[in-house]
Amino acid sequence: TSTLKTHEAGATFTNGHASPAVDGSTERIQIVDEEKKFTPELGTQIQKWGLRDVGFDYNIVSVFGSQSTGKSTLLNRLFGTTFDVMDETQRQQTTKGIWMCRGKGMNVMVMDVEGTDGRERGEDQDFERKSALFSLASSEILIVNLWEHQVGLYQGANMGLLKTVFEVNLGLFGKKSTDGTSGRTLLLFVIRDHIGQTPLGNLQATLTSDMNRIWESLSKPAELKDTQLSQYFDLAFTTLPHKILAADKFESEVQNLRTRFVDKTSSGYLFKPVYHKRIPADGVSFYMEGIWEQVQTNKDLDLPTQQELLAQFRCDEISAVALSEFNEQAKSQKRPVEAGKVVQGLGALMRNWRTHAINRYERDASRYHKGVYLRKRADLIATMNATLSPLFLGQLKNLHKSCLVAFKKEMLDGLRGEQYNFADVVSKARETCERTFTVGAKEAVVEDTDWNWEEELQLLKEEIGVVADQCRKDETKKMLNQIERNIKRQISEPVELYLSRPSKGMWDEILLAFRDVLGKAESAYLSKAMSFNCTEEENTNALAALRKRAWLVLRAKIDEQTADQAFLSKLRNHFEERFRYDEQGVPRVWKPEDDIDGAFKKAKDQTLELVPWYSKISPEDASLQFELPSEASDSASEAEEFDFAATLVVFTETKALDLTNKFRKDADAYYVEAKRSTVSSVAQ
Ligand code: GDP
Ligand code: MG
Repeated sequence: TSTLKTHEAGATFTNGHASPAVDGSTERIQIVDEEKKFTPELGTQIQKWGLRDVGFDYNIVSVFGSQSTGKSTLLNRLFGTTFDVMDETQRQQTTKGIWMCRGKGMNVMVMDVEGTDGRERGEDQDFERKSALFSLASSEILIVNLWEHQVGLYQGANMGLLKTVFEVNLGLFGKKSTDGTSGRTLLLFVIRDHIGQTPLGNLQATLTSDMNRIWESLSKPAELKDTQLSQYFDLAFTTLPHKILAADKFESEVQNLRTRFVDKTSSGYLFKPVYHKRIPADGVSFYMEGIWEQVQTNKDLDLPTQQELLAQFRCDEISAVALSEFNEQAKSQKRPVEAGKVVQGLGALMRNWRTHAINRYERDASRYHKGVYLRKRADLIATMNATLSPLFLGQLKNLHKSCLVAFKKEMLDGLRGEQYNFADVVSKARETCERTFTVGAKEAVVEDTDWNWEEELQLLKEEIGVVADQCRKDETKKMLNQIERNIKRQISEPVELYLSRPSKGMWDEILLAFRDVLGKAESAYLSKAMSFNCTEEENTNALAALRKRAWLVLRAKIDEQTADQAFLSKLRNHFEERFRYDEQGVPRVWKPEDDIDGAFKKAKDQTLELVPWYSKISPEDASLQFELPSEASDSASEAEEFDFAATLVVFTETKALDLTNKFRKDADAYYVEAKRSTVSSVAQ
């Protein structure tokens, strides 16, 4: 056999009208072969035809009729297709199956159904039925091709074929469709080799009544028994002259008929929108394959289900394409965000990616079953949001960190100067920080999500509080140190002065001076602390600490002034002033008759009287006594025990005794020296 199987147009086909296609636009394809297998190539072929992206802007037409009635010849003339035509000289059968070709220069998919009329050849009517189902499920127009002399032959093969078509149609479109498509189809009767003796009107009347008779004779399901043929089909009729006997007339009539397929403005335009089966062009191959699959396995062909399956498949595909580009884009910012970077305009980027993906999805998927389309759209958005969410959260974390760093810096800058108001510095820095965060966080939010940044802001606020608190503590500490240094400086001179002038009232003087210095220090603290927003309790504690530190400063100074050598030298001076100088302050020159012993004893006693004065801080005026609470050490804190009463003691009794003894030795040395000086003056 030399039948054709090839998909490549122009290789061996015998129709001289079509030229070999170079761009694939007129390539034909056998979508169902003799083994009733559906081709896997239809999708690719539709793409090659350039029809994949035309949405609903295309039409499908198919042809039915007996063998060798010039069907393929007609299609090729009408649509510029390249279907096989039986070779006159060999009269061999063309390949059985369903072929498809794109109409030349038009968005039309043309199906040539070969071997539809099984009756005529005494073959199986199975293929007839299947191809009828298949064609009706997708085609807008079914061309019924027949010879003039076949008209009125109700018993003829053609009529059996039409009966099949009607039955099948009832199964497909009998129930009211749920998706709003009407399922209406145009039956275009093309009467060939019209001689002209019987006018078209008569032929049309005959055929119409034949059709209605067939319709009546169908065994319909009970709920559809009163339905009319006209509820499902429009009928149109046309004649064509004999192709060979009236060749010119044939050509011009074919051209007229062609116009009705092509020219939307012509009154006889055949592709009315109502016939469209509403399968988006990019879904045609999947849809047809599904239909054929159902037909093949003799399952009930439920078009709404097929439409839904198609929608699921295509919406998933379209969604996947949109998503893969989206994922690419989202990935680009993943690393910077993970690295801790605050990506400027991340929200705008994310919104852009998402909008772009949604638009892409909507453009292609909105043509499909609405419910499925909307469901998959929601899925797509949820998937994208789930991808964006970590970016958003990362951005918030990074924003949080950078805002906190900026806050610390602004704080430190603000506290650098001498004249700052701590509370103002904090509140300004806090405001900047919270504003920067809020602006950045709001920018990063993508609408229609449950994303929230308020919690992160709350955390940030808490950390700002901690930082500000630490800063305040540091500043307070610095200030207290400063105050302490001032106390030290101010107390030093009075202590030195009064301790070098022993008197009963010297502690009164010292404590008075101390009270003065402490008072100044306290008001210095309070005036500064105002701006620190310290609590009452903190102020109380700080003041207590200040008093204690001031006291310890005083005590340290006293200790310095009463250290062994310093104290002994004070005693010595005191003693010397009384022993070596007379009442007028004139240095004594001892003479043998002088009462050295008496003078010595008096000076020594007077000096020893001083020791108890120094040994304890005790003012004459008891109201001047300074008071501090004692602190017992507890095991929980490392604070050393502080016993205030003990700090009043300058020397213990043992220490006093020790110092007294040391002084006595010094005094004795003066005595011996005085004695010696008289001996030497006698010796002279
Ligand atoms: P198909 O089997 O229905 O597709 O018929 P073909 O297009 O293959 O044509 C079958 C034969 O009929 C070929 O030899 C054609 O040349 C011839 N033919 C085509 N159109 C006409 C026509 O309008 N009138 C007549 N008498 N023959 C035709
Ligand atoms: Mg043919």
